[in-house]
Amino acid sequence: MAKDYYGILGVSKNATEQEIKRAYRKLARELHPDVNPSEDAQHRFAEVTQAYEVLSDPQKRKIVDLGGDPLDNGASARAGMRDPFAGFGGLSDIMDAFFGTGGAATGRGPRSRVQPGSDALIRITLTLEECATGVTKEIAVDTAVLCDECKGSGSRSGSQTVTCDTCDGRGEIQTVQRSFLGQVMTTRTCPVCQGYGEIIADPCGKCGGDGRVRARRTVTAKIPAGVGDGMRIRLAGQGEVGPGGGPAGDLYVEVDEAPHDVFVRQGHDLHCHVRIPMTTAALGATVPMETLVDGVHELRLDPGTQPDTEVVVPGLGMPKLRSSGQSDGRGDLHVHIDVEVPTKLDEQQRRLLQQLAQLRGEEAPSLTSNGAKSGGLFSRLRAKR
Ligand SMILES: [Zn+2]
Ligand SMILES: [Zn+2]
Repeated sequence: MAKDYYGILGVSKNATEQEIKRAYRKLARELHPDVNPSEDAQHRFAEVTQAYEVLSDPQKRKIVDLGGDPLDNGASARAGMRDPFAGFGGLSDIMDAFFGTGGAATGRGPRSRVQPGSDALIRITLTLEECATGVTKEIAVDTAVLCDECKGSGSRSGSQTVTCDTCDGRGEIQTVQRSFLGQVMTTRTCPVCQGYGEIIADPCGKCGGDGRVRARRTVTAKIPAGVGDGMRIRLAGQGEVGPGGGPAGDLYVEVDEAPHDVFVRQGHDLHCHVRIPMTTAALGATVPMETLVDGVHELRLDPGTQPDTEVVVPGLGMPKLRSSGQSDGRGDLHVHIDVEVPTKLDEQQRRLLQQLAQLRGEEAPSLTSNGAKSGGLFSRLRAKR
């Protein structure tokens, strides 16, 4: 039997978060050991605190509403009430912000069949373009879903669970053993009902009493612009349904970014190489180039563009994704210029180039003199010695 947490706090089953908080505060003011040292008050205070911990946690509250008890995990041999004052101090602390400490408290009694489900992880491969624009993907996932036959109860329709005779519905059995210290009482999980305190007399034919089945379903994931390799998108409540139809965990979609054959990503920036003829490098030009997701960009090259020049185009990189899930601004596009020197010349071209060389006085190879230019490589090397 699950505890009546609503009754303990004196609120109705459809009480709001605010009402629950208010009820707890009022009771804590009356019962806290700082103001009421009686043993009875201490016991009540522990009970009230536990009820508050359960009802203020939406997941735990859901389990309660489904007829379960989120604090009874059976199995453990932790007997008796936990120390209600462990972990927090005076009354004023409680009035401030301690809520949610302590984790699973244990109480006696059967464990709940209804448990929260676990999270699930799935990987999807996205192209660099999809990472840049964001995309909505339909993803097939294999997870545990609620059994539609029994709606999570685990019992065949029309049949009910019966109280376990062995433990009398308590979910645990106590045995007395003799030892040299005297009699020792031990508590263990009831082996007949596995600690549930009740037995599914006629299990559901579809899920075998688990309340859930495995199924492949399609979820829609909205991937924001700017995601990158290894990032995870959380889809709340799309993970595994818990035993007994407990609330589902979350589904995490992890992005696997496929390499692009033109653009290389570095954080928010993109890098690419553009080849231009030697003449274009010398004369300068505006050359159209295909971008990742912004169509054709007219790339301006100055006359006298040198090999390995890097032209930075602001704002044509990847969107900067913020933790809020919105993107804010974009990185840059770095265009690396490769200058192509012709390898085959026909007679006329050769003559023209020779003419140009003559005009520029460039027929003879010129050796760069060591350190002629201040700050040159050789002079820097020399300066180090
Ligand atoms: Zn079922
Ligand atoms: Zn039992």
